[in-house]
Amino acid sequence: MVNVKEIIYKGLIPVISPKTAPSPRSFIYEYRGFLKGLALIARNEEGFSYFPSKVAPSDKENENFIPEASEITSTLEIPTYFVLYTHFDPFMWKNYKTVRANNETPEGFICPINKEYFGYLMKLITELCEYKPHGVILHLFGFINVEYCFCRDCREALSRDEKIPADIPFSAIKSDKEMYERWLRWRSNNIMSILSELSKNVHEKNVKLYLAVEIDPFFDWIGGLFENFGYRMEEFIDVLDGLILHISPWEGLIPEEGTDEYNQLVKAMEELERLKARGLDISIMFWRPDMSEFSTIVSLKDKFGIENVFLSTESPTRYGHWRETKIAYRL
Ligand SMILES: [Zn+2]
Repeated sequence: MVNVKEIIYKGLIPVISPKTAPSPRSFIYEYRGFLKGLALIARNEEGFSYFPSKVAPSDKENENFIPEASEITSTLEIPTYFVLYTHFDPFMWKNYKTVRANNETPEGFICPINKEYFGYLMKLITELCEYKPHGVILHLFGFINVEYCFCRDCREALSRDEKIPADIPFSAIKSDKEMYERWLRWRSNNIMSILSELSKNVHEKNVKLYLAVEIDPFFDWIGGLFENFGYRMEEFIDVLDGLILHISPWEGLIPEEGTDEYNQLVKAMEELERLKARGLDISIMFWRPDMSEFSTIVSLKDKFGIENVFLSTESPTRYGHWRETKIAYRL
């Protein structure tokens, strides 16, 4: 596996948490001079923040992580990003569970269009903006996949907005082409309007907003972004400062150069280049690359003239559960 030194010396941006950098002070001082930027996980995988928050419970042992790191990076003028696993929050989960078409409620996953949780998120992000980061990165945003969300609130809102019966099974929606398209559009409208409100809020504070999108063969690279997560790429330009292409988070491998899969990935990235031409910043992200993946990432960066690459030396603690939940619809 690649270590943090290799990431930093190559001019890429490490994504760190208290697990990988228990003392942000010594981490930053060790690599100052080489750090092109720094990305900090802002809340752990259990929903506890790495800063003292008025709305969220904090991880007591590590609640100084964000304040300490931000103070130093701002003195040293190192661009800093906060990463939020937006709609995964086991602490708040029991009130805002997202529901799969078959009524499963995977632990920790929140309904992404729940209004109350959205209010909570706004407050949390507002608190984060007080540390004056360069940007906030929304990760695990949007719907889990095409089989969501069928929580009571979503069903009621669907029936109110689209006159689709609240108790309708997913199979009935899916088998009616016109209804299915209306349903997809409705989910997407909700996601895009949440992004737009977040964007207004964050921009007022002079912080940039980035969305990490899952570019994964399980979701047909970029082919499934609308149908699974509710994203409308053409509208990103109006609400986001940048897109962070998280390559293959669920397949877990970066295809080797020269393979068919690699060519598909390149093709997807070429399509996204159109957004770059319209002013959207495009970056890459990957969790825990090995040496061969690392060199493929660096060559993609050069090939596409990508400014920022975000890499972590370890996977999130809930990775196995996330992966299983995300790809369940394909199995
Ligand atoms: Zn829902």
